Amino acid sequence: MIYSFCNFELAMLNKKVKIGVIGVGHLGQHHVKHLKNIKNINLIGVFDINFKQASKIASAYKTKAFKSMSTLIEEADALSIVTPTDTHAKIAKRCLTLNKHIFIEKPITDTLDEADKIVTMADKKNLIVQIGHIERVNPALLALKPYDVKPKFIEIQRLAPYSVRGTEVPVVLDKMIHDIDILLSIVNSSVKQIQANGVSIITNSIDIAHARIKFQNNTVASITSSRIAKEDIRKVKLFQRDLYCTIDLLLGLTEIYRIKDKIQSKSVIQAPFEYKGRKKVITYEKPVLDNIDPLKMELINFANSIIGTEYPIVTGKNGRDALEIAIKINKLIVEDTL
Ligand code: NAD
Repeated sequence: MIYSFCNFELAMLNKKVKIGVIGVGHLGQHHVKHLKNIKNINLIGVFDINFKQASKIASAYKTKAFKSMSTLIEEADALSIVTPTDTHAKIAKRCLTLNKHIFIEKPITDTLDEADKIVTMADKKNLIVQIGHIERVNPALLALKPYDVKPKFIEIQRLAPYSVRGTEVPVVLDKMIHDIDILLSIVNSSVKQIQANGVSIITNSIDIAHARIKFQNNTVASITSSRIAKEDIRKVKLFQRDLYCTIDLLLGLTEIYRIKDKIQSKSVIQAPFEYKGRKKVITYEKPVLDNIDPLKMELINFANSIIGTEYPIVTGKNGRDALEIAIKINKLIVEDTL
């Protein structure tokens, strides 16, 4: 990626990136909290169609509540878009038209056509589009890095109690898309086949969904998402030859079981067993997780990507690709329920 002179200039002059937040509801206020405390960022203010909410958050974090979205966009180098999903495309295009970098909360948009337009527009103008697929920087998932993870079977469960927030889109676009993005980042292969089922229970769109995704390399993933569960659960299980791993994304717990030929060093918990006359050992490891706030890490990555010292962890194209699969899954479910 080639960075524009503007970014180079920011880096050379050691200038702070001027950022504004559009939409300061449940999640947007956390963007404000972190942006206020990142060293190469100057939070210039917030905008929300609910001005009372904008004023409340602005006064809590000692920043400005803008009355006009256009003025905030004009005065900023970059914007965090944290509004309901069905508004992302319109706001994103307004920002890109004025040559501003954007961080869009997940999912990128609710239609593939709009996602493509955003990615193309940003590419043409050399602007950063980063998507808030926050699980990518979840320490429990990052703990897998030292291991040779090439799963053949993956099971993911993401269950949440009902909330009106997010119901502007089906559960696949609101919740399951996190896990689709995880899959696309773990499985180094393209999607070959999808089967999906689901049901609407409270809203007029799908509230519970299950998908079985088969990749070209024959890896199979089974993912379940619900937005009307009794309690929050976010679990990933990975299976491959000689390795089984469970990750609790919510509690922050990663456990890895591996099969080895020899007894390991005493620091690892191990259980010997015998198979077809050969002695083996199951080892158990629980990596110590980094103590980082994933949202803060995403926003630091966004600022550094604008300056040109890092690349976005989740690009606009990544967000677009996850959306493409999510839309396919939702379409299959809707067709199945007709
Ligand atoms: P929310 O309803 O709590 O907040 C949205 C805010 O946007 C509200 O204050 C609302 O007044 C404002 N708003 C609505 N339309 C607007 C417009 N056109 N211009 C300016 N402001 C507008 O919703 P939320 O839970 O904060 O979700 C916002 C986005 O963040 C959604 O896209 C959602 O999918 C995403 N999200 C991501 C995660 C994650 O894990 N990454 C978690 C929660 C929400």
